Amino acid sequence: MDTAIVLFTSDLRVHDHPALREALRRARDLVPLFVLDQAILRSWFATPNRVGFLVEALRDLRDNLRSRGADLVVRRGDTAREVGKLVQGVGAEAVFVSGGVTRTARDREERLAATLGRRSLVVCDGTTIVAPDALKTYKVFTPYWNAWREAPRRPVERAPATVRHATGVDPGEIPDAAVLVDGRPAPEVIPGGETEARRRFNSWGRGMLGRYDEIHDDLAADDTSKLGAALHFGCLSAREVEERFIDRPGGEAFVRQLCWRDFHHQTVRAFPSITTQDYRPRGRRRWRDDPEALEAWKAGRTGLPIVDAGMRQLLATGWMHNRARMITASFLCRHLGVDWRCGGRHFMDHLVDGDIANNYANWQWIAGTGNDTRPNRTFNPVRQAKRFDPSGEYVRRYLPELT
Ligand code: FAD
Repeated sequence: MDTAIVLFTSDLRVHDHPALREALRRARDLVPLFVLDQAILRSWFATPNRVGFLVEALRDLRDNLRSRGADLVVRRGDTAREVGKLVQGVGAEAVFVSGGVTRTARDREERLAATLGRRSLVVCDGTTIVAPDALKTYKVFTPYWNAWREAPRRPVERAPATVRHATGVDPGEIPDAAVLVDGRPAPEVIPGGETEARRRFNSWGRGMLGRYDEIHDDLAADDTSKLGAALHFGCLSAREVEERFIDRPGGEAFVRQLCWRDFHHQTVRAFPSITTQDYRPRGRRRWRDDPEALEAWKAGRTGLPIVDAGMRQLLATGWMHNRARMITASFLCRHLGVDWRCGGRHFMDHLVDGDIANNYANWQWIAGTGNDTRPNRTFNPVRQAKRFDPSGEYVRRYLPELT
């Protein structure tokens, strides 16, 4: 075909991008496109930390495409409508996109297909390691992990050396984050974009991967990969990370975490109401309506140092250590008896790696309504602090009043 559009969504990279590669194989000229979707930007999902990361990722993607002879075309509005206009404008015969699992992503795919009519919408895998519909839907992790390890893999795609761009298309502006969203990002939030993600991926892989199993629960060391946001925005492909890490010391323990990510994605594909409804309703348990306790928890002022340190790390950096996420979430649901939906929303308000599948499936796991095989599990914050922050260094880092 002569011309195709590659619609970028949560796949803001040029390395290992199956939709981009497939479009290059099948079309002569491409229009790489990103639509700043007004409905998403006006929703609770658009927060200063994540919009800041997104804008940096778009600028980096534009640079990476320009250095390959193309550009990133940016539009603002309704995605399906903007794609429809561009399809007409450039005479595109097909649109290539990476498939998503959330309700928003799947509605978008349906609307795009309807807009395109007899032109093709080509949906490629590119978000998870194993496609979310490749296996039957599992409700328990261990059998999923066993089936997942045996599942066939797609090949990792190299970044294209050049991309042929359709002529005469206005590339459009990438606005500053402050124009798109109210509020300021956290003071220490990590920078966005594929270049930065690959730098982190390479340096962390060289330095820390071998010790991942040993250190991933050490709160003070704070030495996990911090690749969550890059994976969420697709600045890095989980499949490429797996391929590069799996045979190296520490690789299997790390890849198991990526399998949790795939597991939660297949859950959300089957159960898109994960943000609002119990995945496994567990009787007539009632949540407590306690706005004061909720506000104290949010501000990191519960009086329990390990909980407060986690919550303040979130406010300061837009990120929280996984162990602290478990402790603080369990404290809210189990000790304060407050609904997981309130906690999940606060995390989404701040996490730069905030992700519908990973956030809400984990919250429900903690609350006992998700796919934990031990739904009554409770994390004792004092015991957790002794075990995972024995010197108190993590607590002191985020609670200066204790030093
Ligand atoms: P690493 O330990 O270096 O792990 C590498 C990658 O593996 C992560 O980036 C992530 O993509 C994946 N991963 C690791 N643990 C999990 C897990 N339990 N579930 C799914 N994927 C995992 N993760 C998010 O990406 N977004 C969220 O919004 C999110 N919310 C969470 C909420 C709660 C209550 C809990 C308990 C966990 C949540 N997690 C979430 C999972 C986990 O805490 C983060 O993925 C991890 O802390 C990110 O830091 P990292 O990249 O350094 O992780």
